[in-house]
Amino acid sequence: MKCPSISIDIEKIRHNAVTVSRLLASSGLRFVAVNKATSGHPEVARAMLAGNPLAVADSRIENLRRLRESGYRGETVLLRAPSPSRCKEAAEVTDTSLVSEVSIARALGDAARSRGKTHNVVLMVDLGDRREGVLPEEVPEVAKAMSSLPGVRLIGIGTNLACYGGVIPTRDKMEALLEVKERVEKAVGFALERVSGGNSANMPLVMRGEMPRGVTELRLGESVILGTEAVERTLIPGCHKDAFTVHAEIIELIRKPSMPSGKIGQDAFGAVPLIVDRGVRRRAILAIGRQDVDPDGLSPVDEGVIVIGASSDHLICDVEDAGDRVKVGSVLSFIPNYSALLRLMTSPYVEKVVKKP
Ligand SMILES: *Cc1c(COP(=O)(O)O)cnc(C)c1O
Repeated sequence: MKCPSISIDIEKIRHNAVTVSRLLASSGLRFVAVNKATSGHPEVARAMLAGNPLAVADSRIENLRRLRESGYRGETVLLRAPSPSRCKEAAEVTDTSLVSEVSIARALGDAARSRGKTHNVVLMVDLGDRREGVLPEEVPEVAKAMSSLPGVRLIGIGTNLACYGGVIPTRDKMEALLEVKERVEKAVGFALERVSGGNSANMPLVMRGEMPRGVTELRLGESVILGTEAVERTLIPGCHKDAFTVHAEIIELIRKPSMPSGKIGQDAFGAVPLIVDRGVRRRAILAIGRQDVDPDGLSPVDEGVIVIGASSDHLICDVEDAGDRVKVGSVLSFIPNYSALLRLMTSPYVEKVVKKP
């Protein structure tokens, strides 16, 4: 096994995609497959197609271009509005964009027209999380402006919660979105096809059966990739939480006092370390670091392993209770959370190993 590596169990992703998609269908929702956490890995995207998604979505133009080049012919959605300087590229590889600025919608429309096409836009509404989106009272006017742009088809509205402000998607928030939809339809004079309710943080609402009718879709990454909802990170019933496993090799194994010795200043990242005194312990250094992973997001698979810290290139684990089979050259495995996965899939130093059925 090449190390460090991340193994990807394609069958588990297919299973999660089908499971999540069925759950959505029971609340009248379609599944939009989000693949940005894997840097748009095309085989992961293909596995997600098992859930029959309405579209495949990503925040990066590069990832959607790679998806197109891998042979995908379905709808692509750009989750992060394109930079003004990249609207041409965006209109080339994507069918639909989530936007909140009229000027960006205009640039997308112009770029689409020059290719003899139209570009779909979903107007984003900020329901309180304070990342992207127009404030609710201003949405009808902005929608009207967007719907009259050449080359632009306003197909719906959407919202995104629990990303910056940590605002939990509740039934009230979804009802507020549906109210905005009605006001938009009055202002523009036609019906909207889509009400895009949010991300994996909306899954608890779905699981409780509290999603109001009228929301048409959820854009889901984490739920499919890690099998968890994004409010309390609980497992979605029937999903696998270990579709991704990280492997790293031990390069040093020495018993040392857990407390540093000397006058304490800052660590490599400018923080003053807070270290728990566990006495003298057997400690393993693994050849993977913060450049490749968020160490706080690693759950050890092996019994008796505790992650205690990391610098750029070294991960330090307490293996006092892990038994004698742990040696220099042993490979330890971990399940990553969202933050760890994001970095692992982006690091060129981590080998991506696709496990197929
Ligand atoms: C990342 C993202 C999603 C998907 O989020 P998950 O928590 O991975 O499901 C949905 N919508 C937008 C706008 C995003 O940026």
